[in-house]
Amino acid sequence: AIPQRSNDEILRLRKQLLNPTLSVAYQQPLKMVRGEGVWLYDQHGQAYMDMVNNVCHVGHCHPRVVRSGQAQMAQLNTNTRYLHDNIVEYALRLTATLPEPLSVVFLTNSGTEANDLALRLAHAHTQAQGVIVVDHAYHGHSPSMIELSPYKFNGKGGAGQRPHIGVVAMPDTYRGIFPDTPDAGRLYGQLLPSAMASLRQRHIATAAFYCESLLGCGGQIVLPEGYLAEAYAAVRAAGGVCLADEVQVGFGRAGEHFWAFECQGVVPDIVTMGKPIGNGHPMGAVVTTPEIAASFVSGMEYFNTFAGNPVSCAIALAVLDVIADEQLQENARRVGDFLIAGLRQLQQQYDGIGDVRGRGLFIGVELMQGRTPDPQKAKAVVEAMKARHVLLSTEGPDDNVLKIKPPMVFSRANAEEFLDKLDQVLHGS
Ligand code: PMP
Repeated sequence: AIPQRSNDEILRLRKQLLNPTLSVAYQQPLKMVRGEGVWLYDQHGQAYMDMVNNVCHVGHCHPRVVRSGQAQMAQLNTNTRYLHDNIVEYALRLTATLPEPLSVVFLTNSGTEANDLALRLAHAHTQAQGVIVVDHAYHGHSPSMIELSPYKFNGKGGAGQRPHIGVVAMPDTYRGIFPDTPDAGRLYGQLLPSAMASLRQRHIATAAFYCESLLGCGGQIVLPEGYLAEAYAAVRAAGGVCLADEVQVGFGRAGEHFWAFECQGVVPDIVTMGKPIGNGHPMGAVVTTPEIAASFVSGMEYFNTFAGNPVSCAIALAVLDVIADEQLQENARRVGDFLIAGLRQLQQQYDGIGDVRGRGLFIGVELMQGRTPDPQKAKAVVEAMKARHVLLSTEGPDDNVLKIKPPMVFSRANAEEFLDKLDQVLHGS
């Protein structure tokens, strides 16, 4: 049996043995030993409501997903060079959720791998090197993805912006450069041509535009209407391809639609997926058009040892089944709307809530002191909610946005309990 160590002992061993850059959540870190639905349990059996885990999408340790993985693990796990039903079934099921012409699937083991491979596809298709990204975005941890992630290259320890990267301002209608007008999407989208022109001055053509369909690290930002349509048109006119990073927000989380880019009424050229795809099992995917996939055929094979193995595909199939059978997309829409309405009510009651925004179960609450972001308050709220056994976290360039993205089985009763506790915390602060 694995020895059960105290929190202090585990902390000491982490410091001694593990990646020295690893951080832990909370001033007094928690040790979790079990998960079920929206709940995590510490070693004393104390339950915590998980409001931030968008990876365990259909609920922690969902029994159907667990059984599916266990059964396949006991049957066979091997690479994709043998014929197997699971991978083709998964490709059929996944592409059925996507609009035409998104119909060719590459499986990977993580979101970073998906975005990395997508970059190779974009380069191969366009023969260009430039990439436009949105400020404060995060697309992955590999060297090439850090170059595409202002959150990293402009953050602590970052090496700055590389010459082949163009950065456009976040389409933030609350604190961004353009206010909340019906025109905001178009105005922000019109930043793309000048970003691409700057690249051209350096003799760099645009291969791709990477954009999350709702901004995660940017601070849980909802894209203004018309933004992607305007941006995509500009990128395509310049010969580039448009990528929707759905690693955080895909698989029904946006509520109204299965893919968050659909809220913008566009069809990307490449979609990347991760986190929720395997409910915590490491997996990612790229889906693209037959045309772009054909451009990638050069004689060199793309082979990825673990990607698309029978166990991963069995798990991912179970995730799709559970989303459909438990109507979790509809749940995200209904409970998400209820949460946003409840949060807006709290905004009326208390000073300091500048903005409440979101789609489905992807919600941000921006804490402000007048016109100044208030990260101290955000941190204090997170700690006070922890004391009430609710797990929350902060996000955004100023770290003043409460991020809310619970497992999709989050119920109206869970939402009521959360709102009640947040009310208590705001009342006391
Ligand atoms: N894209 C986005 C939008 C993400 O949020 C993340 C992970 N936080 C990634 C890509 C990278 O995914 P992974 O950690 O699975 O490599």
